Amino acid sequence: MIMNKAWGLLFGMLSFCIFSCSENKPTETVSEIETSEKLVSSKPVIVLHGGAGSVTRDHISDSLAQAYESSLNEALQIGWRILEQGGSSLEAVEQTIRFLENDPLYNAGKGSVLNAQGIVENDASIMDGASLQAGAIAGVYGLKNPISAARLVKDSTSHVLLAGTGAYKFAKESGLELVDQDYFLTPIRLKDKIEILKENKHGTVGVAAIDKNGNLAAGTSTGGMHKKKFGRVGDSPIIGAGTYANNNTCAVSCTGHGEFFIKNAVAYDMHALMEYKGYTVQQAAQEIIQDKLVKQKALGGLIAVDKNGNVAMEFNTPGMFRAYKNENEQHVAMFAN
Ligand code: ASP
Repeated sequence: MIMNKAWGLLFGMLSFCIFSCSENKPTETVSEIETSEKLVSSKPVIVLHGGAGSVTRDHISDSLAQAYESSLNEALQIGWRILEQGGSSLEAVEQTIRFLENDPLYNAGKGSVLNAQGIVENDASIMDGASLQAGAIAGVYGLKNPISAARLVKDSTSHVLLAGTGAYKFAKESGLELVDQDYFLTPIRLKDKIEILKENKHGTVGVAAIDKNGNLAAGTSTGGMHKKKFGRVGDSPIIGAGTYANNNTCAVSCTGHGEFFIKNAVAYDMHALMEYKGYTVQQAAQEIIQDKLVKQKALGGLIAVDKNGNVAMEFNTPGMFRAYKNENEQHVAMFAN
């Protein structure tokens, strides 16, 4: 009898708790949790870079600095709007990079540097941290938005990386927008490009984001290194070197001297230091960029966001175009401090 009463009491308390807990939950949170495959809800964050390089305060005109600042702000807004409305981090990464590719200020898409033969050859990659699916294209000319070709490789093939004429053919058959070399080389653009290159040798673009479902994604797009050998491929389209995303740890996009980023598997190393050694995203970024790469005289930087929305923006060059946004803060910067 006493036992029955005790069970009854316990049952009553439990039902009260379940009932009152669900009563108090805001409705959006409930539906967010219910619709999420992984039963996770998260606060969105976007972080991006427009290349690490020799840019310093004395080295860049006020008008050019302003142009970069407003472009970085606009890029942030594009990605942020997608995340805020419940869009995926993958979509935010692709659309933000498309915007940066269309802006001649960066060494990606329209503003891509020329190789030793005076031709633009693009590299790009994108990775989904939820599924570990990735897509990339390398050494391709004539695509308006290389990042969208990379995304299509991920979404519609069983491959990770398509290169050269095969990648071009794939993009053409998929209906992506094609451009001729004049798109990159109008006389005015050529003059601008030389000016920009004098100021900033790099300019690769990259974005990492976490969405409301807690999914991470990262992407990178570049024209590569100025005057690179015809056919040279850098780190940007190499998954694990220039780009990596894994929901267990972080999403990363790198910029800098690509050969070193490939040899050090930098983007994967970020994930590995966090997964195996329990580093924070900032500790991992600092160790790789300021210690490992500096010892090898390797210049560059990276941006990353972890699964809890913490951001790292680390570089060992005089400057890096960079920006991030979360619910409470928005930050745009170019120089070391
Ligand atoms: N990492 C790019 C490459 O080596 C260049 C850059 O980020 O500036 O192709």
